[in-house]
Amino acid sequence: MNCLLCQQPFSQNLTLADLLYWRPLLVERICAHCQRRLQVITTACPECGRTQTSPQLCRDCQRWLKKQPQQLHNQALFVYNAVLQDFFKRYKSLGDYRLHAAFTADCQRWFKHHPADIYIPIPTDAASYARRGFNPVVGLYADCVSLTPCLKKQPQPVKQAHKSRQARLRTPQLFTFVGTKTTLHNKKVLLLDDIYTTGRTMRHAQACLKTAVPDCQLQTFTLAR
Ligand SMILES: [Zn+2]
Ligand SMILES: [Zn+2]
Repeated sequence: MNCLLCQQPFSQNLTLADLLYWRPLLVERICAHCQRRLQVITTACPECGRTQTSPQLCRDCQRWLKKQPQQLHNQALFVYNAVLQDFFKRYKSLGDYRLHAAFTADCQRWFKHHPADIYIPIPTDAASYARRGFNPVVGLYADCVSLTPCLKKQPQPVKQAHKSRQARLRTPQLFTFVGTKTTLHNKKVLLLDDIYTTGRTMRHAQACLKTAVPDCQLQTFTLAR
């Protein structure tokens, strides 16, 4: 098959363990060369998931938590480097849905080691959905875990990417809860998004869910940070 990032043909190397245990094979869609260009986050800020040399709160999060003690516990898989910026440009801005499976194997491995009861994708607003034809977050994770969509996003007059950081932080609540509250009671819930930038989207979604179902245990996950 061809690598979804560089389009070069490659074949997946099977490990001895794959052959010995006949376990379900995770299909790699990224070649070894592109895998090496990705930066996996190993040590991170416990609040936003930013890569760091020590697992302490980063300065942004220290400042944020002083103002508003609402903790997120975001975990992210990869640093949002040039490879991922190029990937998201093609996947989200140009709307190339074929790329949705690029990180399925990496995410499946991550979810296996960090299981939750309920996985909630961050929704797209109706205008973005109509323009792109798919929800990029659902595309990334639907083949990895069973998703429980229960948030609705309000229409946004100005695209987030075009706003300044200050303008993004001031945005009023973006979401409304449209799910069944009883399915989330006392459950370990993982909120899923594609990229963590300021954390504002996640904090809005978290606040909305916590108001609807105060006793759910909430953490967040993004592919990139
Ligand atoms: Zn490649
Ligand atoms: Zn942080």
